[in-house]
Amino acid sequence: MLAGKTALVTGGSRGIGAAIALRLADLGADVAITYASAKDRAEAVVERITATGRRGLAIAADNTDSAAVLDAVDRTAAELGGLDILVNNAGIFPSGLIGEVTEEEVDRTLAVHVRAVYLASQAALKHMPDGGRIISIGSNLAERVPFPGVALYSMSKAALLGFTRGAARDLGPRGITVNLVQPGSTDTDMNPADAGDAGHQRALSALGRFADPREIAETVAHLAGPNARNITGSVFTVDGGTNA
Ligand code: NDP
Repeated sequence: MLAGKTALVTGGSRGIGAAIALRLADLGADVAITYASAKDRAEAVVERITATGRRGLAIAADNTDSAAVLDAVDRTAAELGGLDILVNNAGIFPSGLIGEVTEEEVDRTLAVHVRAVYLASQAALKHMPDGGRIISIGSNLAERVPFPGVALYSMSKAALLGFTRGAARDLGPRGITVNLVQPGSTDTDMNPADAGDAGHQRALSALGRFADPREIAETVAHLAGPNARNITGSVFTVDGGTNA
């Protein structure tokens, strides 16, 4: 389904990003991933990509470093021979009541979740002369906030709703689709399904379960594929009914 396509997944060394990178490779794409510090884990993901017969590439690029983000996009296109699919996935989970969060945490969160998404998407355009796919990973907490301590996280992910809709309008004439996937509780290092508050998260969802990262990857893979060519500016919430 994705044979001959190339993809870049930010934050592909672990969790949801790794699952997305592997699924896109399974479907035939060559895939680059970025990571912030987990070089060994990124290289292990690349090994699994190459085991599928596709090309893989691990690039160190912290989302707080704009030059590194731009370079990762250009390196992907140069080394894999183009860029068809950009997945803005890299993320962090700052928590704390409004009175406790520092200015540095605000700046860092907005840099990772907002500025880097805008800049990477902008940089990808010149490599997508014949169309392309931009898919961002937001959060169901962008739209509903059922517990305290996540105002900063929620604010940063809500920005992706505006970005997705605005960019879809701008880029439609160029054949580039822009969509947003909003996971709910998903079993990763960021949010382990056996952590202390996991039972509370399960209770908030209609299905009473965490997602497996591969379930998020499946929605991304659909949006990256040919059957999604008429989908743009759309938001897909994959949260077991938490926001229902
Ligand atoms: P993980 O913590 O498991 O993985 C995060 C990934 O992002 C890693 O690859 C990490 O790289 C990378 N990363 C972190 N900070 C930076 C940075 N500053 N620059 C570049 N890369 C960075 O998280 P998840 O897989 O759970 O999360 C993936 C996305 O899904 C995030 O955007 C998150 O907000 C979102 N999400 C997750 C939910 C969940 O319940 N898990 C729910 C809703 C949304 P490294 O390995 O080098 O640290």
